Amino acid sequence: VNWDLNEDQRMVRDMVREFVDAEIVPHAGEWDQEARFPEEVFRELGELGLFGMNVPEEYGGAGLDGISSCLVLEELARGDASTCVAISVTNSVFCAPILMYGTEEQKQRWLVPCASGEWLGAFSLSEPDVGSDAGALRAVAERHGDEYVLNGSKAWVTSGEVCGALVVFALTDPEAKRGRISGFIVPRDTEGVVVIPKEHKMGIRSSPTNQISFEDCRVPVSQRLGAEGQGLEIALRSLDGGRAGIAAQAVGIAQAALEASLGYVQEREAFGRPIGLFEGLQGRLVQMAAEIRAARCLYLRAAALRASGQPDTTAASEAKLFASEMANRATYEAVQIHGGYGYVADYPVERLYRDARVTTIYEGTSEIQRLVIARTLLSPDA
Ligand SMILES: Cc1cc2nc3c(=O)[nH]c(=O)nc-3n(C[C@H](O)[C@H](O)[C@H](O)COP(=O)(O)OP(=O)(O)OC[C@H]3O[C@@H](n4cnc5c(N)ncnc54)[C@H](O)[C@@H]3O)c2cc1C
Repeated sequence: VNWDLNEDQRMVRDMVREFVDAEIVPHAGEWDQEARFPEEVFRELGELGLFGMNVPEEYGGAGLDGISSCLVLEELARGDASTCVAISVTNSVFCAPILMYGTEEQKQRWLVPCASGEWLGAFSLSEPDVGSDAGALRAVAERHGDEYVLNGSKAWVTSGEVCGALVVFALTDPEAKRGRISGFIVPRDTEGVVVIPKEHKMGIRSSPTNQISFEDCRVPVSQRLGAEGQGLEIALRSLDGGRAGIAAQAVGIAQAALEASLGYVQEREAFGRPIGLFEGLQGRLVQMAAEIRAARCLYLRAAALRASGQPDTTAASEAKLFASEMANRATYEAVQIHGGYGYVADYPVERLYRDARVTTIYEGTSEIQRLVIARTLLSPDA
């Protein structure tokens, strides 16, 4: 096993780390308080090539490998988990499915502007009544000649109100046992796409999350992604890739909580000495650091397997499960280490604690990750 990052991977990580420290860390608290999507920073992130990190250079992308893009997501989340999730969704569940299943024309039309930083992408699978059980979705896409007509309500669309286009999933054959669902690429400004004002969330507050209603929305057949009936496969395959990214996001949040705590324990005094000298707190910091490193290894393994074309479903679920649960433990500890100051917005750990919470929920809850992992554990050739 070679644990060393190569020179390119280190260079990309360090470049983004520098950007995050200068442009994101100082403002993340204010964006969170105002629940404001920081357009100005996204313009710069787009110029840095972070909207199309794994998109090949021939489509204007950065052409990075999967390990580098996860390292970038960790660094972004260390600064601001909201910023990270918009970049993660654009790369993992908008660009990636188009790269894997799109026609040459679709790649030219949708990947080129996204990769050049013109707009963010979104992914619309969940519905108000359907989340974990993705196959039970209800939105329909009825074929009329050269078009599909989309109708139905979608929920929880990250970047719904700020994206340029969405990958949307709907039923094309509601009666079929398999192959009921198809994927579509839909620009947000298409007639019949109605974006509902954003949710008021506990955390990742500067990332807008919207319900979207499709009302007789006409989409040409040329915007269907993959074959008719291939939608569930496309959605699940994309989510496998996304999960390593969410694991990286969780590691970034936890790393920020650790760094804030290491600083605090050296400044704060109690009983006449810095609180960092108390063994009780040292033990907590050591546990956080060890678990962060373990979670990082897990997401790097999942990303490496995917990059080499090996099966990565279980590895991605293990990484997402462990990293997201770990980020919740680490941010809880960070609040505790800060005492009363951990409970107010003057210190970043209050935001990190709220931001970590969603990582065990989106892109598959912890319970769903356990189901996925159990399948491998219980299969005879596991
Ligand atoms: C901030 C945010 C952003 C999101 N962004 C997106 C997005 O961009 N695109 C998108 O499509 N979706 C998005 N989602 C939706 C997210 O993926 C779902 O919330 C998630 O998949 C869970 O679905 P649900 O909320 O319907 O919960 P449910 O599926 O109703 O689950 C409720 C509870 O039941 C448990 N449960 C369900 N089935 C089982 C089972 N078989 N065994 C054991 N336990 C089970 C779950 O783990 C959970 O604890 C987002 C969600 C949030 C909160």
